[in-house]
Amino acid sequence: MTPSSLLPLPSSLRDQFNRPLGSLRLSVTDRCNLRCGYCMPEEHYVWLPRESLLTFEELGRLAAIFIALGAAKVRLTGGEPLLRHGLPTLVKMLATTPGLGDLALTTNALLLAAQAERLREAGLRRVTISLDTLHPERMQAFARSGRHADVLLGIDAAGAAGFSGTKLNSVIIRGFNDDEVLGLLEFGRQRGLTLRYIEYMDVGGATRWRMEDVVTRAELLATIEKRHGRAEPVPDPANPAAPAEVFRLRDGTTFGIIASVTAPFCGSCDRSRVTADGTWFSCLYAERGVDLREPLRLGATDRELADLIAAAWQGRDDRGAERRLALPGRGALYQLDGLRADPRREMHTRGG
Ligand code: SAM
Ligand code: SF4
Ligand code: SF4
Repeated sequence: MTPSSLLPLPSSLRDQFNRPLGSLRLSVTDRCNLRCGYCMPEEHYVWLPRESLLTFEELGRLAAIFIALGAAKVRLTGGEPLLRHGLPTLVKMLATTPGLGDLALTTNALLLAAQAERLREAGLRRVTISLDTLHPERMQAFARSGRHADVLLGIDAAGAAGFSGTKLNSVIIRGFNDDEVLGLLEFGRQRGLTLRYIEYMDVGGATRWRMEDVVTRAELLATIEKRHGRAEPVPDPANPAAPAEVFRLRDGTTFGIIASVTAPFCGSCDRSRVTADGTWFSCLYAERGVDLREPLRLGATDRELADLIAAAWQGRDDRGAERRLALPGRGALYQLDGLRADPRREMHTRGG
């Protein structure tokens, strides 16, 4: 059955807060070659069983159903998605799915230099690269990797392969890289890449999270405006669900802030995520997900899977970040035993 045979579908699929199903994050692995302190600070992890990981055919089929239901934007993530063997093959499958509007990848770029060209040829449209520090020794201490140079090569390779509109994501944490706010902006500016600052979130995985360590949107703006003058907000009415607020400086440089902690944007959130084992989460903070792998492997039709997804989306009332903001004395979302009990609570499994 092809996605077109699913039509007609509820073109205006809406959740309990009238939010459309607009974008899908597809995690292709829970493994990673970094150990970022805000995501994987522990020594040992419980991994998803290998046999539970969706095949490319299964991922492609699920993606096609989500796209038919309205999730025209698909982002590949992980763990580190470039660790998934043969990723360009999956990209090629997804790129030709009818109804696809955008196909992007979020990566730490360690392996990007070797793969950028093949990914571009396969039909990947955009890349977002995580870069938290310009100091190799900081990356060594914070993310337990000495491969900073490979990240820089990966960033250059994205440009050389013809990707445009590449974004850099930087999570700013007090005492780690809060003195690099201007340096990272300049790094992006020199390369024509848009930097997006992300507030440090208390997601699963961030077991050491403390509110005191969050460098807030207000602080980021104050630091930037002190050096560069007023940062003018750039509204994007065509893209109301975009998580980043965009600003422009006098010299034309633009940057974004994703203020998930101090100014959550749940009200317009059209995102959901499928883990590499086929569990579908309607919110980054959701306690439970919907198992799509079992019906998939038990022979459910596309229509049955679409009905399952549509019904769950219609019942969605998640506003995780807003609810966290309202909590007094907020601390880490999960302690280690909570994460060990269910690896799907991890950010590196949910995909960010
Ligand atoms: N490994 C890839 C990478 O790092 O780009 C993709 C997966 S990673 C989970 C996706 C995004 O989540 C990254 O940009 C990362 O910085 C962000 N992230 C992870 N933990 C976070 C946290 N505690 N707060 C804010 N952002 C976080
Ligand atoms: Fe860092 Fe991404 Fe790996 Fe998490 S999944 S440890 S954010 S590189
Ligand atoms: Fe969307 Fe949940 Fe994040 Fe709010 S917390 S923006 S509802 S994923």
